[in-house]
Amino acid sequence: MQLVTKRDIIKQVISDWEKAYSSGLYGGDKLEILEKLKKINLNTVSAKKIDSIIGNKSWTSLNCSVCGKHSDKVVVLKDLYDRLGNTCIVYLCLNCVLKINNLFLKDLGKD
Ligand SMILES: [Zn+2]
Repeated sequence: MQLVTKRDIIKQVISDWEKAYSSGLYGGDKLEILEKLKKINLNTVSAKKIDSIIGNKSWTSLNCSVCGKHSDKVVVLKDLYDRLGNTCIVYLCLNCVLKINNLFLKDLGKD
């Protein structure tokens, strides 16, 4: 279990983009974007700036797996397995974590 912020994923955007596109198999425009990303300071750049370089918000967005809403921070649950044994990752926003907490609190003392 780990807390991940929007800044955390912004700091990862160059290495993630390199993993996805550095082979050059997806066209020169992906490599041009990589060069633009390498020129920015990931510790201070806004998500909006990265979105404008890449052309969409998918590389700077965190969405809750339960409610589907965008969140600037999520708790990430990894190494979970579905009924077929496939690994899955779950992202939880604070609101959904609080709802889970309330479910446990309502159940206290019922056993
Ligand atoms: Zn949520």
